[in-house]
Amino acid sequence: MKFYSLNKQAPQVSFKEAVINGIAPDQGLYFPEAITPLPDSFFNAIDDLHPHQIAFEAIHQFVHEDIPEDVLKTIIAQVLDFDFPVVEIEENVATLELFHGPTMAFKDVGARFMAQCLGYFFEGEGKEVTVLVATSGDTGGAVANGFLGVNGVKVVILYPSGKVSDIQEKQLTTLGENITALEVDGTFDDCQRMVKTAFLDQDLLKHMRLTSANSINVSRWLPQLFYFLFAYQKAKSKGKEIVFSVPSGNFGNICAGMVAQRLGMPVQHFIAATNVNDIVPQFMKNGNYHPKPSVATISNAMDVGDPSNFIRIRHLYKDNFDQLSENLVSHSFNDEQTRAAILKIYNSTGYVADPHGAVGYLGLKKYQEEHPETYGIFLETAHPVKFLDVVEDTIEQHIDIPEKIAALLDLEKRALPISNYEELKTYLLAN
Ligand SMILES: *Cc1c(COP(=O)(O)O)cnc(C)c1O
Repeated sequence: MKFYSLNKQAPQVSFKEAVINGIAPDQGLYFPEAITPLPDSFFNAIDDLHPHQIAFEAIHQFVHEDIPEDVLKTIIAQVLDFDFPVVEIEENVATLELFHGPTMAFKDVGARFMAQCLGYFFEGEGKEVTVLVATSGDTGGAVANGFLGVNGVKVVILYPSGKVSDIQEKQLTTLGENITALEVDGTFDDCQRMVKTAFLDQDLLKHMRLTSANSINVSRWLPQLFYFLFAYQKAKSKGKEIVFSVPSGNFGNICAGMVAQRLGMPVQHFIAATNVNDIVPQFMKNGNYHPKPSVATISNAMDVGDPSNFIRIRHLYKDNFDQLSENLVSHSFNDEQTRAAILKIYNSTGYVADPHGAVGYLGLKKYQEEHPETYGIFLETAHPVKFLDVVEDTIEQHIDIPEKIAALLDLEKRALPISNYEELKTYLLAN
């Protein structure tokens, strides 16, 4: 399986090269040259499959030339060592909980899968690669955790000072070993800009091999398709048409769901739910794609003004707007609506949703007004404890802090303050 650049000005590469490059030399995102549907028998007999088998069958075609079967099985077993429950909270409304991994947000699976792939590719090579990543919150922790102790890989995380939650900051600043956190005096956009500058800095690239662990990387993006298959397996017996509502920021997760659909998963409709950063909901109204500077919201992991993976969705549909509209709707909700949803869900069902999950819930309910016969699954992308202040304040209840988070809070933060690109470069060259 080859991967090509969506800008079509760069050579096709193997999975391994796509993972190591992150982004193609022409700045395009990599895309698999084919998506071959799994046999009907796979979906008919999915009830009998272990999640690790489901994952193996689904990802094998994309990676098999670079990762032998036994290695792939080991990687999958290491990545997927926690559960993905589907919890029904109302009639025909269920939530797919993606927060049972080590950092309690859904990015753990992609980050771990990428870390394991890179670790395998560099095993015994004696070379080192530096993973450079900018985070607005959850990516940093997931990447730090996923890459901790992986040989041959150094991780440098840039985060905006004072703009991530306390728990998120602890998750990325307390691990040590091969993980370094740089605390940037600036916004997430500044962090992102510095990372992009580094990837283009020939002077720097003479001295080191750099790669990115943002969701543009195919090894972080593709494994997210597992979630949808796991949920399909659990909801299939309902005998209804299943729809997924995905709280979306960079649109990597929902795009992976659409790849699962191309693999033959019998699901027709996806709902992309966003906060007021509504670039895609606007696009789905009028076909015009207008990126805007991002606006801060209580669902901060979705504060994205130019969703980088949406181009992959458009490409999946060969940029045919009408066909895309048959499978995808997109709705935007503000913070007030999100808080009201958290409260409503809590009061009527006792379930505590996080702000991102609540946006997904709102998208689903809106869709079901017109499609009441469907079985809707919204993705709970983070544990509510990661957004403690907002959630406790909204439901006026105390939330217990899970063990794995509580232990973190006592650890000492270690981060190096930087304020511009020159300081980042100096750090990278010196270490
Ligand atoms: C990253 C993230 C999202 C957005 O996912 P995309 O794949 O970027 O659309 C949603 N919720 C949470 C909690 C996240 O961390």
